[in-house]
Amino acid sequence: MAKVAFIGLGNMGGGMAANLAQAGHEVVAFDLSEDALARAEARGATRATSAAEAMKDAHAVVTMLPAGKHVRAVYAESVLGKAPKGAILMDCSTIDVESARAVIAEAAAAGYEMVDAPVSGGIAAAEAGTLTFMAGGTDAAFERARPFLEQMGKAVIHAGEAGAGQAAKICNNMLLGATMVATCETFAMAKKLGLDLQTFFDISSKASGQCWSMTSYCPVPGVGPETPADRDYEGGFAAALMLKDLRLAMEAAQSVDAYTPMGSEAETLYARFAEGLGGAGKDFSAIIRMIDDSWTPPA
Ligand code: NAD
Repeated sequence: MAKVAFIGLGNMGGGMAANLAQAGHEVVAFDLSEDALARAEARGATRATSAAEAMKDAHAVVTMLPAGKHVRAVYAESVLGKAPKGAILMDCSTIDVESARAVIAEAAAAGYEMVDAPVSGGIAAAEAGTLTFMAGGTDAAFERARPFLEQMGKAVIHAGEAGAGQAAKICNNMLLGATMVATCETFAMAKKLGLDLQTFFDISSKASGQCWSMTSYCPVPGVGPETPADRDYEGGFAAALMLKDLRLAMEAAQSVDAYTPMGSEAETLYARFAEGLGGAGKDFSAIIRMIDDSWTPPA
């Protein structure tokens, strides 16, 4: 078993670190939040007094931080030159492709192997160890990272070179944001046309309009499988995080001159919902309430 330095023990990192400890690794944790550190300690990790201290004798490093600027700072100040040269570095945060590539290049220049390995799946999947990892980096780096990622997830896919994990993640989430909006407006229209919504679900989920946002994550309370819509849109994947990912997608689109009209519209709509209407903390499927303001979830 290995000594794993784990930096960033928030909603996602907390469960992920616990799964590594459960698998028998010695997990040395650091977070700026005392609460997060105390929770990690209670779940089998040892606390470090700084990120740099956590690197001592580490075989592997996992980071799960909010955004690109945090990842750049933590690697520059506390990981590179502090972790032993043989340590495999894994950043699992969702960040911009440019930061991911820059940090991996700096790591390589300093003699480290590193992957960007963002995840699909929310807090429940992080707890259950059923995340999907999409990793970018060399074949050698990926093969070294894989056993650790497999202990936190149900699927680990090599997406390509450095930054490819982040590219795959934001392409996927741009599609998800756009299909969720399309699903919401479709159900709102179906309702106004007098269709029974469960009947429409039964038809469309077996017809050509079928998509994950409808069949697995239906935004309509009481229709399809149980989803956050059945819990007043609590839990699940927050609209604020969807907005973050759509902004990263738009940044990436601009950097390669990709035409993304649907992604761009989804970003505008999620910004209005999360920031203009206070929906940031609700599940992202709650945007149905903005699309049809006559919508009322069951009491
Ligand atoms: P979070 O805010 O709950 O956790 C981030 C943690 O990082 C916090 O505990 C914070 O104190 C810590 N932190 C920030 N700067 C630090 C530093 N310099 N040193 C040490 N610790 C530091 O966020 P989260 O929900 O766990 O998300 C983490 C990442 O995973 C994000 O990039 C997010 O986009 C991505 N993600 C989240 C979800 C989700 O459902 N929450 C799903 C997929 C991907």
